[in-house]
Amino acid sequence: MVLLDVLIELKARSLDRPFLYAYDGDLTIEPGMRVYVPFNKQELVGYVLKVEQTHLSIEEVEKKRGFVVEKIISVLDEAPILSNELVQLSEIVSSYYYAPHISVLQAMLPVSLRPTRGALSGPKIAYDTYVSIAKDDDSDLTPALTETYLFVKSNGPTLRKHAGNDYRVSKLLESGHFKLEYKEKRRYELPKVNRKSKPKLTTDQNKVIEEFFVATQSVALLEGVTGSGKTEVYLAIAEAYVKKGEGVIMLVPEIALTPMMVKMFLSRYGEEVAVLHSELTNAQRYDEYRRIASGKAQIVVGVRSAIFAPVKNLGLIILDEEHVESYKQSTDPYYHAREVALFRAQLSGAKVLLGSATPSLETRTRALKGVYKHLRLPKRINEQALPTTHIIDMQNPTNFAPESVIFSRQLLGKLKEVVNKGEQAILLINRRGYATYVNCRSCNHVFKCPNDQATLTYHEFDKMLKCHHCDHVEFFPTTCPNCQNKTLWKTGFGTQRVEEEVNKLVPNAKTLRLDSDSAKVRSKIAKTLKQFADQEANILIGTQMIAKGHDFPNVTLVGVVLADLGLNFPSYRSSETTFQLITQAVGRSGRSDKIGSAYIQTNMPNHYVINLAAKQDYETFYNYEMRIRNMHNYPPYSYLMKVSISSKDKTLTAKTAAILTSDLQVKLKDDAEVLGPLLPYIDYLGGYYFQNIIIKYKNYFKIKPELFKAFRPLIENTRVTINIDVDTLDI
Ligand code: ADP
Repeated sequence: MVLLDVLIELKARSLDRPFLYAYDGDLTIEPGMRVYVPFNKQELVGYVLKVEQTHLSIEEVEKKRGFVVEKIISVLDEAPILSNELVQLSEIVSSYYYAPHISVLQAMLPVSLRPTRGALSGPKIAYDTYVSIAKDDDSDLTPALTETYLFVKSNGPTLRKHAGNDYRVSKLLESGHFKLEYKEKRRYELPKVNRKSKPKLTTDQNKVIEEFFVATQSVALLEGVTGSGKTEVYLAIAEAYVKKGEGVIMLVPEIALTPMMVKMFLSRYGEEVAVLHSELTNAQRYDEYRRIASGKAQIVVGVRSAIFAPVKNLGLIILDEEHVESYKQSTDPYYHAREVALFRAQLSGAKVLLGSATPSLETRTRALKGVYKHLRLPKRINEQALPTTHIIDMQNPTNFAPESVIFSRQLLGKLKEVVNKGEQAILLINRRGYATYVNCRSCNHVFKCPNDQATLTYHEFDKMLKCHHCDHVEFFPTTCPNCQNKTLWKTGFGTQRVEEEVNKLVPNAKTLRLDSDSAKVRSKIAKTLKQFADQEANILIGTQMIAKGHDFPNVTLVGVVLADLGLNFPSYRSSETTFQLITQAVGRSGRSDKIGSAYIQTNMPNHYVINLAAKQDYETFYNYEMRIRNMHNYPPYSYLMKVSISSKDKTLTAKTAAILTSDLQVKLKDDAEVLGPLLPYIDYLGGYYFQNIIIKYKNYFKIKPELFKAFRPLIENTRVTINIDVDTLDI
């Protein structure tokens, strides 16, 4: 008999430990396989962590341990679903992020392989059926059968449906002339890309590549201005690893950037590349995952979760646009792909390359200290000039184009000029929807979400009011519920409204829009970007999704429609994210041989963030912002953790948060600053009340044991839920 340590599929923190089961069947069970087990009168999927042989009987084990030991119901896998390296990684991630171990394992795996009951009905391997020659003799065949026989003989194994008349194929199978073969099918078809040769690298590119290879540090930051040719550096460094037979993970921060990167890698490596992102169906992701696990694909291009891809013999992890927040998952487990990359690289001895024009302050600081190798590309390719930028003061009414409530004369004029010249423009507006909010002209009632009190956004496409924080939607109201007045105003603007105005004011322009609304449709992102790249439209309008990474040579104008939107956001990081966003957006302009320009509309024309971003002056911004962070002891001078308490009972939530705050203040008094309890922006959602505690500290491992003790009683308490976001970006 064997004893098994099994993690149960339920993600509750209180169940985050292995449970003991027994198995006395004939199959060999190894750690990393899934089993079906009885648990609390249910039948659940479990994940085996440890297997131990025993000569004792169940009764003896029970007596020794002092609890009932049940037998598993069945074994679900023939082989472990994760490598040792990935299991170790899951333990590290679970411990660092305080995330239930099972939730990390689930986040690592494609749907069909997850340790959950749902996975059992997920996509399975799909096969293509081939026919091939089984008997090398056609002497006794009729002419018709001979024809089919010879067709397959000359072509080799042929897809059954392509082998000709199915009656004849069946006959040949029956007579033993043909046999069937099954080959695993790849449901994801890679985009067709022509193989391309490498360009001759510039002196700067060659220099950073050389520096990367001789560096003693295992992590490097490639800091290169927009358009400095970072992608070619990634490709060249990756090539060296592929040649050595080592695997490469290439991460991009969001799905909109995958098509370009996939294309670049495919043009060099073809079938060697696997792709992992959420536009793939579950079946496609399963196939890609298996191709990687089997070693058929050595290079993986993907978004955040691809950091867990089962790449064999991993040599290199690259994170492009390393500063982007979407590398951090905003639900449990709250992991950051960059942090996980560092953990994984340590385990496998791989190197990490972080790239950006506007590195996060954390990464830049480590590079300046020499913890990471600092590589720089200070100039654009071919010394192409950075775009000329204009800051337009939208507080000054004379700057508005007379026919518009959105555009300045300057930006509108330039937009028309660019369209007339047959060039292209990008308009960035960091807010989706049509109007920001709807209010009553008479009593000023603002329409809010009944679930969380967030202001509702008007969407012109379906004429609905939508909450951007939960799923609530409602029809556009005909009257004000407060005073019955019928005049309701749509105030502010988002991507849809900008698109509508452009269509009205620049009628000869063809526009495309890309935001998370339009991107809900599968493959819409890749399609829209391709249409724009193929110059089927003159103007691309979108949210931050279009601001970074893309390389459209014909774009000579970038308009930031309202630059201050992000600055008003109440977060210590708003300056950094706004600087990055504007710098990246401006950097999309004039990347080829034509000189580009950028127009930044703002109500705060003197704000340092806007001025420095317009100049692409990262250095001054970094120094200035670091002084502010130092003054307030914010990262990178400290680390931040957000603990969120929630329950259905408002008083219980407040009381629990208050007790935990004072408990932590006492326990961590020398090593951390504990702020709270704080009411979050949305403090009531879906029947639950929320309160937050923020913990600021310098040394995580020093406070960890005390934190653990303080959280323990709450984890056991079934009436309150505790959520822990380590290295939070969300404050
Ligand atoms: P970044 O990611 O640094 O903003 P890209 O990698 O997109 O910049 O490169 C900018 C442009 O320069 C792209 O169009 C790319 O094809 C081109 N490029 C890069 N390296 C070279 C090179 N060595 N020779 C010619 N063109 C290059």
